[in-house]
Amino acid sequence: MAYETIVGLEIHVQLLTDTKAFCSCTNEYGSEANTNVCPVCLGMPGAIPVLNENVVDYSIKAGLAFNCDINKYSKMDRKNYFYPDLTKGFQISQNEVPICENGYIEIPVGEDGVKQVGLFRIHMEEDTGKSIHTDEENTLLDYNRAGVPLIEIVTKPDMNSGVEARTFLEKLKSTLRYIEVSDCKMEEGSLRCDVNVNVKDTETGERTAITEVKNLNSFRAVEKAIEFEEQRQIEMLKRGESEVKTTRRWDDSIGETVLMREKLTQDDYRYAAEGDVRAIRLTEEQIQAVRDDMPELIDVKKARFISQYSLSDYDATVLTQDRVLSNYYEELAAKNSNYALVSNWVINELLRRIESEEFDASVIKFSIDDFAELLKLIEGNKINNNTGKKVFREMFETGKSASAIVEEQGLMQISDTSFIEEVVTSVLADNPQSIEDFKAGKDRALGFLVGQVMKGTKGKANPQMVNELLLEKLNS
Ligand code: ZN
Ligand code: MN
Repeated sequence: MAYETIVGLEIHVQLLTDTKAFCSCTNEYGSEANTNVCPVCLGMPGAIPVLNENVVDYSIKAGLAFNCDINKYSKMDRKNYFYPDLTKGFQISQNEVPICENGYIEIPVGEDGVKQVGLFRIHMEEDTGKSIHTDEENTLLDYNRAGVPLIEIVTKPDMNSGVEARTFLEKLKSTLRYIEVSDCKMEEGSLRCDVNVNVKDTETGERTAITEVKNLNSFRAVEKAIEFEEQRQIEMLKRGESEVKTTRRWDDSIGETVLMREKLTQDDYRYAAEGDVRAIRLTEEQIQAVRDDMPELIDVKKARFISQYSLSDYDATVLTQDRVLSNYYEELAAKNSNYALVSNWVINELLRRIESEEFDASVIKFSIDDFAELLKLIEGNKINNNTGKKVFREMFETGKSASAIVEEQGLMQISDTSFIEEVVTSVLADNPQSIEDFKAGKDRALGFLVGQVMKGTKGKANPQMVNELLLEKLNS
């Protein structure tokens, strides 16, 4: 039997505007509770919301980056529901006419395939306050988040696996960070994702009811939750069982989704026009101004990296996934035209030492010039590659320059023929068995002898010279 998994996502993203969506309160994460508030975002009667024009520009920017149609006319609506963190009793959102519609995001699939995941819409709305449930079973309310601008991105059910959903989210996040519309920090709640998933029996056409999964706190959790649901729902189809539409939450500690509630009826939000906020009317010039302001996007930059720097597809993918990282690479490549070497050191030495998920150049204690100097020492055979890695580690930890470390620790590579020759002679005298092994065709013997000579020079000998001198003596 064959089954198809059908996945759609709803993603809420907080916008990086200086102020909130409808008032001039600071939009900042981590302030003391209830300090960034005013009558408008607290929903006091009579307070009048005024739409922040940066929210409109940022939404257009996201829409353009995701290939959407931008609606020249859109409007705000009230989405009514009762919750303590929503003081007005409704959320200002867009229901009937969103600002962006019909986009898509391209994601890599399989070996070298590409898939377009469609977007139904991107609409603007405001965030709610935050309920904090304490150990003493009290609920505290922080309204700093109330009125923070959001875009909600709704995809078509075009993804077919957990991996595809994760890949989609990674691309979405990278792009939003490229265009500096959001920092997309899941741990701070600036990117939140709900998953809709069901399974279809491709032979009988039978489908399970859609499950909505909430409480997903990482892309990895999204992937795992979809895979869990896939199995759970296939088992249900096999047993001929059915259920109504459900909302479940992901429990990371047990690796399972847990039933929250069954949905017997459609939520009724009694949408109504938001009469206090004027409709949004855009001119072509306004949209064009945002378009002109767009930076180079990932796919274009990746193609450029491959052609301009002759990088592999893999290296170009890694280096362009984050805009800050790609800028870092370009700055270093401007100082050293051995682009493959630069890429190798950035990916294999620098990136693996940066622990945060996002590339943050401010945690790097040394400058780009220091990095360039290290590469120059290696290229000029002043230190060998292994010593270079040791120096790099020290630079990363202490922020000292490469030349200072090399000087302090006497790491300068030994290219003095007579000295290396001396060590080679004594190593050969100590290891007659290895000489015989080498002459009997055992290649490993040479590696062992090279190792012994390197050890005898505290790792500082020029490895190429060691090799040459050893072969010369062994073959004589
Ligand atoms: Zn306010
Ligand atoms: Mn929403």
